Amino acid sequence: MKNYAAGIDIGGTNTKIGIVSDDGRVLERTILQTREYSTPSIYKKRVRSELVSMITSMDIEICGIGIGAPNANIYSGCIEFAPNLPWKGMVDLKEGLDDLAPVKVTNDANAAALGEKLFGAASGFSDFIVVTLGTGVGGGIFCDSKLLYGKFGFAGEIGHITAVPGGRQCNCGRKGCVEKYCSAGGIVTTALELFSEHRNKSKLDKYDKNTLTTRIIYEAALEGDKTALETFDTTASYLASFFNDLLNIFSSEAIIISGGVAQSGEILLKPLEKYFRQELIEFYREKDIKLLLSALPQQDSAIIGAASLVF
Ligand SMILES: [Zn+2]
Repeated sequence: MKNYAAGIDIGGTNTKIGIVSDDGRVLERTILQTREYSTPSIYKKRVRSELVSMITSMDIEICGIGIGAPNANIYSGCIEFAPNLPWKGMVDLKEGLDDLAPVKVTNDANAAALGEKLFGAASGFSDFIVVTLGTGVGGGIFCDSKLLYGKFGFAGEIGHITAVPGGRQCNCGRKGCVEKYCSAGGIVTTALELFSEHRNKSKLDKYDKNTLTTRIIYEAALEGDKTALETFDTTASYLASFFNDLLNIFSSEAIIISGGVAQSGEILLKPLEKYFRQELIEFYREKDIKLLLSALPQQDSAIIGAASLVF
């Protein structure tokens, strides 16, 4: 008999709710606007009613509810002080849902790593890191076949590793964090800096920080726009150093890129491969360390990852 789980991905903009079968397929899904709910209790009531209606209409039982959310802590079951969500402080995600099925909670990048391990690009690996490049930069680290949580549950907050000492100001209070260079917003900032160096030479010049997106930069790069290509090249060089730092700590066999920026595919991966291999320490050069893109369907990967917590 098939097993089913609910997967919930809570983001600053959208909350994705889905029912996932144990072969990794999303059978039912819905999206809520996270910001429409002024308090956690109103929000959880709505999430609950969506879940109940899916379970009832599908006439199934679920083995658990997995939730991925920014700053969510597997030990406390709470979102803890997430800067990009409408609710402040500690938000208990279990209460109000755990009478339906057991609830397990972790941050979105850890959920992504579990999803890749069970159903995606990491199925054959014991030691790998999933790096999520989207609105922020996050990481889920598998070491010796175990997902690392650390003493306080926040292992893998790799977006706040320093890429450029004294560099761009990060929301976390530090300067020069990887997140300020390799997230979607970081890539846009890099492109804007490059425009000011090559004014009027790029088809991206008509955009500003409010209108430019990584998608637009990607499309311009595909058409051979020099500034757009240089933006990806620069981003790839930051990522190459960052990935080598991670490799030197965790001795991973693969690093898997997921999140919206991974949609750039070869435009990012090709220069990244080149710079990453150039920086490898000698004893890793013969080891076939893999750089891969997520193998989960982009629109469902967060739901699949969250459900993977409870399979
Ligand atoms: Zn930071």
